[in-house]
Amino acid sequence: ATPTALMVGTGRGAQLGILIKGPEVLESTRKADTIVLDKTGTVTTGRMTLLAVHTAQGTGERDVLRLAGALEHASEHPVARAVAAGAAERTGTLPVPEDFANVPGLGVQGVVEGHAVLVGREKLLAEWAMELPADLARARAEAEAAGRTAIAVAWDGEARAVLEVADAVKETSAEAIGRLRALGLTPIVLTGDNRAVAEAVAAQVGIAPEHVIAEVMPEDKVAVVKRLQGEGRSVAMAGDGVNDAAALAQADLGLAMGTGTDAAIEAGDLTLVRGDLRAAADAIRLARKTLGTIK
Ligand code: ADP
Ligand code: MG
Repeated sequence: ATPTALMVGTGRGAQLGILIKGPEVLESTRKADTIVLDKTGTVTTGRMTLLAVHTAQGTGERDVLRLAGALEHASEHPVARAVAAGAAERTGTLPVPEDFANVPGLGVQGVVEGHAVLVGREKLLAEWAMELPADLARARAEAEAAGRTAIAVAWDGEARAVLEVADAVKETSAEAIGRLRALGLTPIVLTGDNRAVAEAVAAQVGIAPEHVIAEVMPEDKVAVVKRLQGEGRSVAMAGDGVNDAAALAQADLGLAMGTGTDAAIEAGDLTLVRGDLRAAADAIRLARKTLGTIK
């Protein structure tokens, strides 16, 4: 394509809500044949709400919400925001943790009112040799089968509760994924979340279980992109989180959600300003048209 055609292509992109880092990005946009989609905040809105609290025998719901809410208040994760907001709404002002640490891809840990507290995946509890009692394990399995994320809460060496949080699939995601497939791309969902939840979300946007890669630690998202590239694919990756930045940089084409974190936007080649995946399909059509592959 001539320099003028490239300029027109990038200008048209801006009208469509697509910010392109430079004209050279159009070539990788044209060639993409696989699109890896982060789940939370990319396929879904990422605005989660706390739906239910299941407590172990002898544990009070108020204590669970105060201790878990206090720790999560210090985290930016969409799950954390839902837990902190739900806890504050139900119990009032939350205590300030004496100690706090984020455990990427697993949850948070710290000290609240003298108690050593963990909030996150069951795997985080397992690292401290704790497991959910049978009734809480059942509540977790039921929540996940329904497509909700189950978060475990433990303190002082004992698993005490399971919290259910959920967010909604964006209204535009199913149409966007249909359009990407019509353009010849293979959509794949990639997430740190549980497999049951990931499959339930994928089903809502027309993606089959064999195209769901779940329970992937943040640092391993890059390895998934590399593996797909090793299969000879030209990989586009769409994401919003700090956790997605390295994978966005590794991908042949990094698509950052404009509604996401600065880290993702910096790592991406292209920003979907409104966080609407339909703009990814527009970008691919535009690149093919600008570079003369389609009329
Ligand atoms: P995703 O790939 O879906 O954006 P992450 O890799 O950020 O998800 O996190 C994976 C999983 O780890 C989440 O689905 C959640 O179960 C758990 N998790 C991560 N951070 C937190 C937190 N602050 N509180 C509770 N659970 C968390
Ligand atoms: Mg995300």
